[in-house]
Amino acid sequence: MNNIDVARAPVTDLLSRIPSVDRLLSLPDSLCIQSTYGRQSFIEATRTVLDSMRKDILNGSTHLDISEQSILGRIDQYLIDRQKPKLRQVINLSGTVLHTNLGRAVMPAEAVEAMVAAATEPCALEYDLGEGKRGDRDEIVEELLCELTGAEAATVVNNNAAAVFLLLQALSNRKETIVSRGELIEIGGAFRIPDIMKRAGAKLVEVGTTNRTHAKDFQEALGQKTALIMKVHTSNYVVQGFTAEVPEKQLADIAHSHGIPFVVDLGSGTLIDLALYGLPTEPTPAQAIKVGADLVTFSGDKLLGGPQAGIIVGKKELIQKIKRNPLKRALRVGKITLAGLEAVLRLYRHPEALPQRLTVLKQLTRNETDIQEQVMRLIEKLRPVFASLSLELRCLAVKSQIGSGSLPVERLLSAALMIQPLSKSAEKLILRIERSLRAGQTPVIGRVQDRALLFDLRCLRPDQEADLIALMTDALKRSTESK
Ligand SMILES: *Cc1c(COP(=O)(O)O)cnc(C)c1O
Repeated sequence: MNNIDVARAPVTDLLSRIPSVDRLLSLPDSLCIQSTYGRQSFIEATRTVLDSMRKDILNGSTHLDISEQSILGRIDQYLIDRQKPKLRQVINLSGTVLHTNLGRAVMPAEAVEAMVAAATEPCALEYDLGEGKRGDRDEIVEELLCELTGAEAATVVNNNAAAVFLLLQALSNRKETIVSRGELIEIGGAFRIPDIMKRAGAKLVEVGTTNRTHAKDFQEALGQKTALIMKVHTSNYVVQGFTAEVPEKQLADIAHSHGIPFVVDLGSGTLIDLALYGLPTEPTPAQAIKVGADLVTFSGDKLLGGPQAGIIVGKKELIQKIKRNPLKRALRVGKITLAGLEAVLRLYRHPEALPQRLTVLKQLTRNETDIQEQVMRLIEKLRPVFASLSLELRCLAVKSQIGSGSLPVERLLSAALMIQPLSKSAEKLILRIERSLRAGQTPVIGRVQDRALLFDLRCLRPDQEADLIALMTDALKRSTESK
């Protein structure tokens, strides 16, 4: 059938010439598609495609190719698109290294291997190989966690929010927990200390003021019903100016003199002093334990650089009490998480090699010059592609954020590839390019700032450069075609 016939044919005629599902099912070329996706999926895809073609025809579209070959092509494409994973890999050039919306820490090869192995074969997750009987899954990482934090015992749950919740539910249900007013944090909207406390059945006793809290505030709040004194690391903001807070050591002493535990929610759990690598200092669980904290909670996928998990370390007796709480079972982690966490923790035994081996630390310690050179390399390659447009490519000094409520005010010197509009119409083009990059084969996440498009290259590995150039070239092409 040629196009002129199609164009002239009246709507009913066109509709009647659309092949039936049965007819398409019987075509030799459809068998190949059916064997790839299954007969039922083929039938469903065929119905969807034919329905949409009928709609198009009724809406007056006359240039539709209704040959069997072309319809099979559409069905195949529909099935290919539907088969694409929803969880897409992206290139994170947002300038935030631990981006919660982009999955936080990228894991090192050692961890990925361990996770694949744990998923592939049966593993002794809760099985004591020496005794041949039931074991405890926490033991997989407990020794490492104790070694790295100086704690007596450890347990792992789904994430740090779960760790804080479980701790409060197990130790402060229907009892009071004292927290400084300056630490009643909200993280990413859904995690608010007062709400978590309420849900865990703990009664929050706020002391001090937003900017200043003193030892006597805690002492005066202690009573019969006090179960815990809690310190929450203000990981996504700082209070500056006329401020006062009670040092952890003193809080521990106050709690202990009253016979109750002192607990610390650290949030980001770097296990090693980051100053060793030239990065801003972030408190570690080991420091908190050393000055007398009885329990410390932190995330597995923030600065620690591992899988999503919430870790509780501290006194054996308290950890045991937490593990006996029925909610532990509801919040526990699976074998894949434990396999990844174990492998990541092992890397910390060799701190000198950590910036090479722990992906997050590698990203955070990348120096400005190295990133600048990468920007210049890309500009060189991309300049011809951008040549005829009123857009300018430049290298801009920027500051990366660590992210995920880690080291909130610290920024790392970095460099960005900047695409700057040179005219009013080019400003619209910038927005189209940004959208096209998100819609590409591998979505590229940058940011628009002052009308320009910025890509902080801190998290771009050298082996991804060629891909990025191809993705940018392709996005530019699509953005200039579609107005
Ligand atoms: C990030 C954070 C949490 C929540 O941890 P998740 O791992 O996201 O559940 C809780 N408390 C503090 C202080 C944090 O920084």
